[in-house]
Amino acid sequence: MAQRNPQRRVAGRDGLLEWGTLTFATPILANTAIPYFETTAAQPGPRLAVIAGMHPNEVSSMEAALRLSRMLTGSIEKGSAVILPVLNVPGLYAHADTICPVDGKNINFSFPGSPEGTFSEALADAVLNHWSIGADLVVDLHGGDLREDVAKFVMCQLTGDPEFDAKTRRFARCYDADLIVEFSATETENIGRAVNVLPKLGRFAVMSEAGANGRIDEESVAFHLNGVLDMARELGLIGGPKAAKGRSNRIVDGYQKILSPATGRFYRDVRVNDRVEKGQRLAFITDIYGAALVELHSPITGRVVMTVTHAIVEAGDMVFGVGAVIGE
Ligand SMILES: [Zn+2]
Repeated sequence: MAQRNPQRRVAGRDGLLEWGTLTFATPILANTAIPYFETTAAQPGPRLAVIAGMHPNEVSSMEAALRLSRMLTGSIEKGSAVILPVLNVPGLYAHADTICPVDGKNINFSFPGSPEGTFSEALADAVLNHWSIGADLVVDLHGGDLREDVAKFVMCQLTGDPEFDAKTRRFARCYDADLIVEFSATETENIGRAVNVLPKLGRFAVMSEAGANGRIDEESVAFHLNGVLDMARELGLIGGPKAAKGRSNRIVDGYQKILSPATGRFYRDVRVNDRVEKGQRLAFITDIYGAALVELHSPITGRVVMTVTHAIVEAGDMVFGVGAVIGE
């Protein structure tokens, strides 16, 4: 069970905003308190669940989650929204890059999790099977860890059920994205996130990525915020017209993770959202003396979904994500 421990309740123009901490009955989570906001309209209706800070340096998405709680409280017409502005609390002040420092695992790839598992696996289970139960849509906000840049993109998981997938696609298109990653129902490599697992349980989920290098940038904050607000409109929580769209919103059928084959200095030829041809050089790596070690070439024609921005890499680091655009 997820237990709410409210600290404050404030009446907004249209809704009630409450915040405090969540605690869980799972033994390994006993000393963990996760901050939450909950906005409730006077009129019952749909429920939106928003997660941020699974990667606690991804600050543009976390800033969007923070602002969202206030904005929804000023405009909610029916239903409720619950927001976790920092899920990876143990990693927050440690500035943990990608992982949760309690067990060294990446929470993002620990779903569906297990109450008997490690800390990250138990937290994933608590989020999936307790906190978000009853939500009509779960949204997971990411992007821009300390050493990475990402395209402004959305991820969703298709199931093969045309009606379910059409609704998922409607949610995903609420963002104004460079790229929309639609994982096919048969995807077996790029899996393990909440957004991959929830649709297979018959629950709607969308994940968004925007940001770079652990810095808040207003364009990325707006990308996340406007996307979630338009999904709140799609659900019927709030009214008003949807935001105008200006980006290309290209559809990508999953993406390939390209790992560094060597340790050394990393020199990139391409940036996020660039189109790359199969075989095109993406980067080269030298040793610490500057002697050439290896070149990285794109395995496919597609668009750059993410890239490492740091000039030093280790063998095995994911340094690019490249996705093939449907029809391009
Ligand atoms: Zn992330």
